[in-house]
Amino acid sequence: MKNHPPWMVFLFLYLCSKLIMQVFKFGGASVKDPDSVKNVCSIVKQFAREPTVVVVSAMGKTTNKLEELVNAYFYRKGSVDEILAELKNYHFEILKQLFSDAKAAIYDDIENVFVELIWALEEDPSFSYNHHYDQLVSQGEILSSKIVSAYLNAQGVQNKWMDARGIIQTDNSYREGKVDYELSGRLARQELIPALQKHQLVITQGFIGGTSENYTTTLGREGSDYTAALIAYFIDAKQVIIWKDVPGVLNADPKYFKNTKKIDDLTYHDAIELTYYGASVIHPKTIKPLQNKNIPLHVKSFLKPAEAGTTIKDGNKGNSVTSYIFKENQILLSIQPKDFSFIAEENLSTIFNLFSKYNAHIHMMQNSAISFSVCTDNDPQKIEPLLADLQQHFKVLYNTGVQLMTIRNYDPETVARLSENKIILIEQRSRHTHQMVMKSSD
Ligand code: ASP
Ligand code: MG
Repeated sequence: MKNHPPWMVFLFLYLCSKLIMQVFKFGGASVKDPDSVKNVCSIVKQFAREPTVVVVSAMGKTTNKLEELVNAYFYRKGSVDEILAELKNYHFEILKQLFSDAKAAIYDDIENVFVELIWALEEDPSFSYNHHYDQLVSQGEILSSKIVSAYLNAQGVQNKWMDARGIIQTDNSYREGKVDYELSGRLARQELIPALQKHQLVITQGFIGGTSENYTTTLGREGSDYTAALIAYFIDAKQVIIWKDVPGVLNADPKYFKNTKKIDDLTYHDAIELTYYGASVIHPKTIKPLQNKNIPLHVKSFLKPAEAGTTIKDGNKGNSVTSYIFKENQILLSIQPKDFSFIAEENLSTIFNLFSKYNAHIHMMQNSAISFSVCTDNDPQKIEPLLADLQQHFKVLYNTGVQLMTIRNYDPETVARLSENKIILIEQRSRHTHQMVMKSSD
């Protein structure tokens, strides 16, 4: 390109980079055992023909186990040693089946992660629960990304392992790190893009970030999808593929419904609505960064990688498939002023501030003259302090063990069928969405 002015060369390089980079995300189920890791390798071989960032989650149910570990450590509930041994066993069993050479460097690498974990656990907790949670729970992603990277390299799929904490920068809201877009974007352009150009394949972690004081944060459970979207946004990727154990976005969770249907196309708007109401197929924060740069998101099956899956992008026709989103283990709070005054703006603002203070997400709300009802997850970590605080200002009644059913594109027969034998505590409908907070009638 000798005869071209520099701006043209830059434009060419910029357009090239925009055209070719992509981001893959593999969740816990896709790396849960040795065969799954082998399958990831074959997908990468087949589908990562252009510079690709691979974002991985912790293996199988590792994050839940690490949560148990944090509780054992912080609250002295359960045995730290036992849980740690289980985690170590699980990862080394996978290693043994992936690397027949017992001297492979990965064995030491993984051993070192556990040694550091032991050191951290030997000290008494000196920070908040959430702070310790993030330092410990984040190790699940470190372990899995190291194993996947080493396995790919051993199979001749050359790649570079990168620590996501050097790119995704957050504030210090532990367990719900707020991402600094500017700084993270700059770091992605400085560190990630050159690595990608050099190695073609970069393996990194979902779910975790770093603070300016070099502590680790996490982005909220199931946050790896969000990491993949952020990275795609920062590097102007041409697409994101989330590889899952389902054929795509389904119209209901197969855990609760038979005869689920795959939805072929969704707009970003449809996808935001579905995830907002709690469809667990994609993390709710994933869509916005992609929509802002018009980056298509594909949700595909890692078991049938050649099949089309679901495509989320603008220009798709809107989704008219009836979809069901079911949330269990909800609590319905009914909040009333102690003096029987009306629920008015001032009360509402106190209530919202308290929900925000304890990071309790409101799934549905309804108000009447003297009471305000809110449905939220019954997570004792959040609900107990929230209730105590609310009770300082209000009289609070609550119903536990309730379920929230959201039906998109509903019709009366479906609503009737799904509420059969249930007591409906509150109900709300708009043009496309019908929601019910229900309890079993027995
Ligand atoms: N491993 C984390 C979790 O299970 C993040 C993720 O899977 O997306 O919540
Ligand atoms: Mg996971």
